[in-house]
Amino acid sequence: MSLEKESILLKRATDHGYGIPAINVFDYESISWAIEAAEAENMPIIIQFWPGLSKFISLTQIVLITKELAHKASVPVALHLDHSNSYEIAMSGMVSGFPSVMIDGSSKPFEENVKLSADVVRCAHAVDVDVEAELGHVGSGMEENDLCIDHFTDPDKAEEFIDRTCVDSLAIAVGNGHGDYIRTPELDFERIKELRSRLSIPLVMHGGSDIPSEQMKNAVRCGMSKFNIATEYERTFHNSMKYYLNNAKPHHYYLDGLQEIKSSCIDFVHDKIQMLNPDHRKM
Ligand SMILES: [Zn+2]
Repeated sequence: MSLEKESILLKRATDHGYGIPAINVFDYESISWAIEAAEAENMPIIIQFWPGLSKFISLTQIVLITKELAHKASVPVALHLDHSNSYEIAMSGMVSGFPSVMIDGSSKPFEENVKLSADVVRCAHAVDVDVEAELGHVGSGMEENDLCIDHFTDPDKAEEFIDRTCVDSLAIAVGNGHGDYIRTPELDFERIKELRSRLSIPLVMHGGSDIPSEQMKNAVRCGMSKFNIATEYERTFHNSMKYYLNNAKPHHYYLDGLQEIKSSCIDFVHDKIQMLNPDHRKM
């Protein structure tokens, strides 16, 4: 298969009532193993990349690796550039070959966010690239202020935002936060339901790591479709490699370590795919 459009995968997920994990990747193995997990579950997967990591691996390299692996995959694979916080980063993602980009103007005033998002959409849609934007602001999971209702997505504003920008999906703030959480998050399910009933495009959950699985399942049942998983996947790599190195026999090779941690990393993605399909829907 070639890469699938993210907007098509998300529409199907929304219609069929399951969620798709968007796994933040950082090297060849993190991409390859996420796709292997999706193949084992026979479900679609979104590979996404945070541009802040481009000092370690370029946008073009991520595109080339993912296209090659998607071509061989037995399930649909989409590729997305996470959190472009400027017009220039979103453009560089498109030029590098990302078929979907996020433009994040959520920390700007409403009118500035509308203008920035609409500008990116105009260019992106001209070259058949999907755009995710954010309204409300998903901040840090470690900041109590960022998790409070002041930052949540307002449904009236969200309707206006989508009308004026024509974005393809919307990241919403409903009690979620990025990175580790200072306390167990409490998602606002009534707000998710209202946003789902009033908005015509797929809804995206950022900060999907460490939200209790019952809450994640409930968010799927309330109609959310894309669930970003970064912190927990990276942590699985780190902890698995640390365990391997602490227990490795002398003269083992680095590549032996990669083989040893492979199954725990694939299992992690399996579990997320299953959790986000609580009613066992088919893709
Ligand atoms: Zn995010």
